[in-house]
Amino acid sequence: MAQRNMEPRKTPMPTQPADVRNRNFQEVALGYTPEMAVNEAKRCLNCKHKPCVSACPVAIDIPGFIEKVAQGDVEAAYEVLSQSTALPAVCGRVCPQESQCEGVCVRGLKGESVGIGRLERFVADWHREHSDAMPARPAANGHRVAVVGAGPSGLTCAGDLARKGYAVTVFEALHLAGGVLVYGIPEFRLPKAIVEKEIDGLKAIGVTIQTDVVIGRTLTVDELFDMGYEAVFIGSGAGLPRFMRIPGESLKGVYSANEYLTRINLMKAYDESSRTPIQRSHAVAVVGGGNVAMDAARCAKRLGATQVYIVYRRGMDELPARHEEIEHAQEEGIVFHTLVNPLEILGDEKGWVTSVRCEKMTLGEPDASGRRAPIALPGSEFILDVDTVIIAIGTQPNPLIRHTTHGLTTDRHGCIVTNGPDGLTSRPHVYAGGDAVTGAATVILAMGAGKQAAAAIDRSLQGH
Ligand SMILES: Cc1cc2nc3c(=O)[nH]c(=O)nc-3n(C[C@H](O)[C@H](O)[C@H](O)COP(=O)(O)OP(=O)(O)OC[C@H]3O[C@@H](n4cnc5c(N)ncnc54)[C@H](O)[C@@H]3O)c2cc1C
Repeated sequence: MAQRNMEPRKTPMPTQPADVRNRNFQEVALGYTPEMAVNEAKRCLNCKHKPCVSACPVAIDIPGFIEKVAQGDVEAAYEVLSQSTALPAVCGRVCPQESQCEGVCVRGLKGESVGIGRLERFVADWHREHSDAMPARPAANGHRVAVVGAGPSGLTCAGDLARKGYAVTVFEALHLAGGVLVYGIPEFRLPKAIVEKEIDGLKAIGVTIQTDVVIGRTLTVDELFDMGYEAVFIGSGAGLPRFMRIPGESLKGVYSANEYLTRINLMKAYDESSRTPIQRSHAVAVVGGGNVAMDAARCAKRLGATQVYIVYRRGMDELPARHEEIEHAQEEGIVFHTLVNPLEILGDEKGWVTSVRCEKMTLGEPDASGRRAPIALPGSEFILDVDTVIIAIGTQPNPLIRHTTHGLTTDRHGCIVTNGPDGLTSRPHVYAGGDAVTGAATVILAMGAGKQAAAAIDRSLQGH
């Protein structure tokens, strides 16, 4: 075993300075050098119970890959990672490690946990930059499976089945595969070339991706069975935005975060040569406090807005976004109006947004969600002058598949109901996972669901 590094703090990762990066769309965090990576890897104690592995939804052998980095054998580390994940460069960047693997790391008891995400990212990037080798295509087993949606859940399910020899076709509604990884999460957190390269690895093992196919319109799930697919996995996500249902939401200059981010990330609206328009705003209110709200606010800043406000009805401690995203947003000059609730969006005579009428809030007793309920403070109304409002208060599954698939049970939020970890739905041979089942969640949970459904499909089609 390599000599341990007992430094209590993580090896820092270089980033672009805040006042530079808030004017460009290039990646914020710059990644470890090989020396930094080895140094950080030596902080892992390779402890007996390995709590990090149980806390990882795809059960990566975390101490195993880190030990290889500590020994300086990065390609071997990549091999260990690839046994459990097809998207390590993605997960190393966007996983909420602080509430998963790093949250239970024993080094965190007396200092900072091992930088597991940073090391995963380093290994994946090193492999991408140093190896052209693509995984070999496994021998076909004669079975065909269809996957709906090319987000993390669908891609993981497709990859795991292809590795077992299934002929898998992924049907994706958009013109590019990747789901939220390409249309939602901005370039400065997750460069799209990285997602593309990880998807190329899946194509190399035989996954076919058909873009511009909307299941429920172009084809139905029933028709997929008529075409000879023996099982269908639905990983169609939760892309339908929720609105606040307050006056003024249909004014010009009001966006859902999904539309705003899709225009910027997928359609490259920030690029002058792009044909997709986006409003160049002066002052922007982003309503919501999750990762999506942080991404929208940081994009608005990069597009040149001088004032960007997060408007959130609970307090700083209740913000659901990742700690790192909140910190980065603050460093970049985003102003947080917490304990503030929008009541009405006001506009001019031409129908453009001019301001938001808000009220101040305080926190009461915990509500059904377990969080302290926001309560309006009487007489606290004020006007926030903005020309753009971005609504980032959550999403739910699009009803299209629910309305066009016979025998598919959904709950009152429109999420597909499954039998639990296998992902089997009420319809025989139809499986589902990711945000389509849980509602908006995380990349790694979606991947975990895709993985478990792939194993269940394999068991069913092999007659186990
Ligand atoms: C802006 C933003 C930032 C986020 N940041 C993070 C983060 O930092 N860390 C994290 O872990 N999670 C983050 N998330 C959440 C995470 O991205 C999702 O939980 C995850 O992508 C869900 O994966 P999925 O495969 O279930 O769905 P998706 O990624 O939504 O993919 C679903 C795919 O299905 C396609 N589709 C939908 N309907 C159909 C249809 N009828 N026919 C064919 N195709 C269809 C969609 O076009 C899409 O490509 C973020 C989400 C957003 C929106």
